[in-house]
Amino acid sequence: MKRILILGGTQEGYALAERLVDVAGLEIISSLAGRTLAPRKPKGQMRNGGFGGADGLARYLRDEQIAHLINATHPFADQISANAVAAAGAVGVPLLRLLRPGWQAQADDRWIMASDIAEAASLCRREGGRIFLTTGSNDLAAFAGIHNAHFVVRVVDAPETMPLHDYVTITARGPFSLADEVALMNEHHVNLLVTKNSGGGATSAKLEAARKLALPVIMVERPAIALDPRSPVAEDVETAIAHLLAAP
Ligand code: NAP
Repeated sequence: MKRILILGGTQEGYALAERLVDVAGLEIISSLAGRTLAPRKPKGQMRNGGFGGADGLARYLRDEQIAHLINATHPFADQISANAVAAAGAVGVPLLRLLRPGWQAQADDRWIMASDIAEAASLCRREGGRIFLTTGSNDLAAFAGIHNAHFVVRVVDAPETMPLHDYVTITARGPFSLADEVALMNEHHVNLLVTKNSGGGATSAKLEAARKLALPVIMVERPAIALDPRSPVAEDVETAIAHLLAAP
């Protein structure tokens, strides 16, 4: 029996567990970060919460005799991704990165690229106005101290404390439709969208809506670890399964 550890919590992580759980000879364990209040339960076994850094993950891989590690976390989950590279390397366990492709700007798009959240925040300070902020609840502190903007903040779970000056919070989980995104941006008189380049279809309608309304988009680029050459990348679940089944 080969034990597979999926660092999950993403749609791809759930889909992969669902597909692999029926493959004979494999035992599937999904690991969730433990941050969402009511996480969906993946197929197969589940564990919850951090490992205690790269050393903790390496210990887990060794103790649980994991045969293959699959990092299916979010494209911006740079810490766990770096830990996966270090731990898999230390223990000699093969690692696969399941990483959906990033969004690409289209002809009518007005993207302003930001290399990280801090740059996105300074661009917001420069632009001001009514800003639709969709970068997630972890990164709101970077936008504290901006006084020339009203933020329409969309998050999955409302944070306990909100560091922003002038804002309204919308709690919602994708997928979102184009019609709803256009309606939301119109209702709140949004003049700027801020997003990470997460990729995928569940939250891409906001980009179509911004295009339709001719709004600029501050697009936060992916961290470098997302494409670390030490872990081969599968862009979708089928490719990941093929890679895994071909492994010795
Ligand atoms: P992270 O910053 O890379 O990870 C921080 C720590 O959380 C890790 O060091 C690890 O703790 C633990 N951890 C993360 N994923 C784990 C997993 N699958 N299993 C066990 N432990 C895990 O990742 P993050 O905090 O999840 O998020 C980073 C970025 O990704 C944020 O910008 C967030 O907004 C974004 N994100 C977006 C979505 C989305 O659906 N939009 C979902 C998730 C994350 P130890 O070091 O103790 O092992």
